[in-house]
Amino acid sequence: MKFNKVLRDIKTYEAGKPIELVVREFGIAPEDVVKLASNENPIGTNPAIAKVIRSNADIAHLYPDDSMFELKAALSSKFNVTDKNIIIGAGSDQVIEFISRAVLDENSSVLMSAVTFAMYEIYAKQMGAKVLRTASYEHKYDEFMEAFHMRKPKIVYICTPNNPTGDATSKEEVLAMIKAMHKDAIIVVDGAYMEYASAKDAKYAITPNDLLGYENVIYLGTFSKAHGLGGMRVGYGIAQVELIEELTKMRPPFNISTLSLAVAIEACKDESFVEESITLHQEQIKRYETFADENALEYIDSYTNFITYLFDETLNSTKISDALLQRGVIIRNLASYGMNAVRITIGTQKQNDIFFKHFKEVIA
Ligand SMILES: *Cc1c(COP(=O)(O)O)cnc(C)c1O
Repeated sequence: MKFNKVLRDIKTYEAGKPIELVVREFGIAPEDVVKLASNENPIGTNPAIAKVIRSNADIAHLYPDDSMFELKAALSSKFNVTDKNIIIGAGSDQVIEFISRAVLDENSSVLMSAVTFAMYEIYAKQMGAKVLRTASYEHKYDEFMEAFHMRKPKIVYICTPNNPTGDATSKEEVLAMIKAMHKDAIIVVDGAYMEYASAKDAKYAITPNDLLGYENVIYLGTFSKAHGLGGMRVGYGIAQVELIEELTKMRPPFNISTLSLAVAIEACKDESFVEESITLHQEQIKRYETFADENALEYIDSYTNFITYLFDETLNSTKISDALLQRGVIIRNLASYGMNAVRITIGTQKQNDIFFKHFKEVIA
């Protein structure tokens, strides 16, 4: 069989390892497995969500409201934009796919930082486009501007806070880049972890409204991280009407499920769960910083719900991740990103206790 030649150059996205795999391969009881690999919310989701799921048990045969009227209404009042500024995706991942398919072809390129969200590259390569990366994992103005003017990419990704590194780019710097780039490129500001950054330091807080004055900029948000709804697959893009209208041509009908739609609407009603999650997170991440300081480990100051530990030559991220996996602790090895580093999602107090117990032994 002959497949499209662009597929030759694509590496399948490596998702965080599921709990079931550790249970199967290492014979560890599921309740003893600690998964700190996919930036899920460790306390789960808002209890009101479970009620919505139960009360919607009898609507599985119905297609969802494809206009997504209620969800868009909830998001437009939350962000102070109109419903015409919003597109809903099966995760913000799917919005990245729409953007890629809307503007890329084999003669175009996309620009991103050296180490950033893996799906930007995969969707670009599916379209046969070239992937350009700056030298640093941070989003540095000079590096982005030089590559932008020399290579004229069709899409520029600004992931802030950045995954898998955890650093953030200030609103001032993001706006400076947007203003200095011409309007032929779509600039994607991916705020998947924005709730955590905004809570930590207002200088990094970016809202969709901050960007709505620019015709070529789209803000991405998701219910998967702070809202604890990764399994429901709901994300959104917010931009000027014309951009949203073009992207909507790429959207398949009923792209999120009836149940996903119902829970996302519910999640918009109550921000207290997100606040509670962030409070727990801020408490627990301090333990990771203190541990690193006490053990002379380097880490990247995090504006997300995870922390990235950088190892020197005495520690090997692959060996450490494998050893932890055998003990039932799943974290993310960043070797495939070209870094001798690991990314650890901050867990509950109990999960973090278990992590430190094993991690101490493994690095000893
Ligand atoms: C998790 C994540 C997303 C999207 O997640 P979805 O579950 O598809 O909404 C987008 N960008 C970054 C940087 C992420 O970490």
